[in-house]
Amino acid sequence: MALTGMDIYKLLPKKNCKECGFPTCLAFAMKLAQGAVEATKCPYMSDDAKARLSEATAPPMRTVKFGAGDKCYNLGGETVLFRHEKTFVNKPRFAVLFSDAMSEEEIQGKIARMNKVDYVRINEEMYVEIAALKCESGNKETFLSLIKKVKDSCKKAVPMIITSNPEIARAAVEECKESGPILFGADEQNCEAMVELAKQHGLLLGVTAPDQEKLYNLVQKIQNLGYRELLLSTESGTLKQTFDDVVNIRRTALLSQDRTLGYPTLVFVNRLSKDKMMQLAMATLFVEKYASVIVLDDIDYSLALPLFALRQNIYTDPQRPMKVEQGLYKIGSADENSPLLVTVDFALTYFIVSGEVERSKIPSWMLIPDAGGYSVLTAWASGKLSGKSIAKAVKDFAVEEKLKTREIVIPGKVAVLKADIEDELPGWKVVVGPDEAALLPKFLRDYADK
Ligand code: SF4
Repeated sequence: MALTGMDIYKLLPKKNCKECGFPTCLAFAMKLAQGAVEATKCPYMSDDAKARLSEATAPPMRTVKFGAGDKCYNLGGETVLFRHEKTFVNKPRFAVLFSDAMSEEEIQGKIARMNKVDYVRINEEMYVEIAALKCESGNKETFLSLIKKVKDSCKKAVPMIITSNPEIARAAVEECKESGPILFGADEQNCEAMVELAKQHGLLLGVTAPDQEKLYNLVQKIQNLGYRELLLSTESGTLKQTFDDVVNIRRTALLSQDRTLGYPTLVFVNRLSKDKMMQLAMATLFVEKYASVIVLDDIDYSLALPLFALRQNIYTDPQRPMKVEQGLYKIGSADENSPLLVTVDFALTYFIVSGEVERSKIPSWMLIPDAGGYSVLTAWASGKLSGKSIAKAVKDFAVEEKLKTREIVIPGKVAVLKADIEDELPGWKVVVGPDEAALLPKFLRDYADK
């Protein structure tokens, strides 16, 4: 439970020396309890008091890590239940399940589909981050062969070893320890051996139990063994119970400040349904509330596009506009004589406008200046979109060297910029486009026919 101001006051030296910037130790304690000041401001606190304060003021949900090198990911560390309270910080990661009981054809098919899903959306590379490797055969050699095959073919995915057999787990970890795998399968029977293995290699340990109560007791037991790099999962077989478990774990950690359940969670949606679209629907639910690892049977673009877009939209700071990179973008097979349009770097505007340009089937160029990540009218009103910013983009992205055209189409809503741009860009003609992006296809077809 969180410490009160009086609890903190009892831990302070009570010198009232004012060196922390507060007139008394009590005033300092009250601010510390509100989280408005750092404990380090008092230079006279004992080590024991510092340790107790740091334990008591640590976030209720632990941030844990898996992976290695540039494929290292954080999970958990959330401080709120709802995104409107504060930004969610560590996005959930997607996993595709491989089993050593699958046929070679099935394994190769999944590897190919997993590798194919790799694209950039609003400056973020989207791909499956985890290959969940399950030992079903009970045979060490068969499982190691699966790990090697997937590890060698899916370079971007961090392995997650799924087994409850500590001996097989030990061999599996040896096979892929350089990738910082997740070790999943610690339960009531094997937890001592699994904790020892996870501790030895500093791995994130997946803990599983039949229900919330048993999971709570098991986590306490593992914490008493001195390990806290945990990922929690219950084995509930229904969507309703799994959802209930995941939400209760988050609420217990954040609202009751009970650190026994203050860890991220994992959900096997592939166990809840075998239907691909049901898995998609369930995965969207758990992106929103509150899984940190979501295991799917398979992946392709029909699953990846909605899932990754949803995750990106939820795990961004709502107070910061989503921006695309400034630059000169080619749409279709545009050449040096193709039309040139300008719009802003606000991601939503960019995608709407580029979608309409694609729909027109007229190959074109899109110039994106620095517009502060705002929509067209806001950028213009705030002075971010101006003759100067557009002329700067023309220069920065070497438009005059790349294109022969000296005409630039601007959004109809900022027609007032025409004279300003022509002043900044001598020899250029500004054409005023439509007010709405939906009118662009007709506008571009007419413009290209001129
Ligand atoms: Fe009290 Fe420490 Fe502040 Fe001095 S610096 S007033 S001892 S809290």
